[in-house]
Amino acid sequence: MTTQNLRANHGTETSDVSSAPLLDVGRGNRPLKDEIMEAISDIIDSGWFIGGPHVKLLEETVAEVSQTEFAIGCASGSDALLLALMAIGIEPGDEVICPSFTFFATASAIHRLGGIPVFIDIEPDTFNIDVMKIESLITSKTKAIIPVHLFGQCADMDPVNSIAEAHGLKVIEDCAQAIGATYSGRAAGSLGSVGCFSFYPTKNLGGFGDGGMLTTNDPEIADKLRLLANHGMRPRYYHSEVGINSRLDAIQAAALNAKMKHIGEYSSKRAANAAHYEQLMVDAGMADRIIIPQANTNCGHVWNQFTIRVPGGCRDQVRQQLAEMNVGSEVYYPVPLHQQECFASLKDNNVDLVETDRAAEEVLSLPIFPELTAAEQAYAVDCLAQILELGEMPLKRAG
Ligand SMILES: *Cc1c(COP(=O)(O)O)cnc(C)c1O
Repeated sequence: MTTQNLRANHGTETSDVSSAPLLDVGRGNRPLKDEIMEAISDIIDSGWFIGGPHVKLLEETVAEVSQTEFAIGCASGSDALLLALMAIGIEPGDEVICPSFTFFATASAIHRLGGIPVFIDIEPDTFNIDVMKIESLITSKTKAIIPVHLFGQCADMDPVNSIAEAHGLKVIEDCAQAIGATYSGRAAGSLGSVGCFSFYPTKNLGGFGDGGMLTTNDPEIADKLRLLANHGMRPRYYHSEVGINSRLDAIQAAALNAKMKHIGEYSSKRAANAAHYEQLMVDAGMADRIIIPQANTNCGHVWNQFTIRVPGGCRDQVRQQLAEMNVGSEVYYPVPLHQQECFASLKDNNVDLVETDRAAEEVLSLPIFPELTAAEQAYAVDCLAQILELGEMPLKRAG
């Protein structure tokens, strides 16, 4: 089947498409604008700006989607990670194993508490932590593991949990990119001691600013998280612990509640876009030039990113040429955390991160948001084919 046929099957006019944005949050927000404006108006009238019924509703629905008993709102995904590590008692000198191939917040939360991030390498195909390498990193100081469900696919959690259990370690899931993802039918956020979610606008459930959520099945941890997120204050002006100020705003929660009703649809549209990309790329003969991302069979992948690998040192050139053709792309992540200047003093820990370094040189994330059209995908793949010298000029062909 040619790409032309696929486009026709998708029923979208293609001839005038000459761009594909990496992300257009407006397309998701616009249909919900009236509903959200009404909720915000109610919030202004009520004067209840922090916590309250909108936050409570979001906590209930996130708990449901995450298959956990408790969900606790907080100010960001970064704070969620920090609070989770505070709740499990990470102290100065404690070691926490986490990937280097992730967003900075995964490791900065450890560092903030005086803990030591011990970076683990990734599997080249999923970009998630290589569970075979966990045990060799465990020392007498190791307290926890933070698997990251990168790009929307869960890390291999059964081995993570059995190793953690054998060594008495806690498991904190970084679910920032993985709301609604599943692993053997179980939801992200329910697979460790605490799940940490982000509502940053680029995430699958994106707010109108910062926001985050913590999930857990442990009532004691849930209680502690709530306490720590509100200055360790209970009752008012009595502080049993030193917490932080990290609360979810009602306005954010109202916007997120409107979107939460559609989270299943957003995930399935992302998955459909991923499947469509795969078909277009295979049909264009790209399969031996780039590496097309795959979902593990036991994983419900929610595709926060669609990340190809461009081997042979030409990733940056491909990205540049895509940009010239108005196809958005991004490198998540160009500098792994063990290479960051601020973590230079940790270098001794991190000797063998070969796959991490290689991924940082090869990854390229393409547009995948739910409202991306089939025509835009076809255009993006046509451009990529042309750059890889597999096809003719997309514009020439369209005309
Ligand atoms: C976005 C993200 C975070 C941080 O979330 P914020 O809400 O931006 O603070 C943490 N970890 C990962 C993997 C992320 O992608």
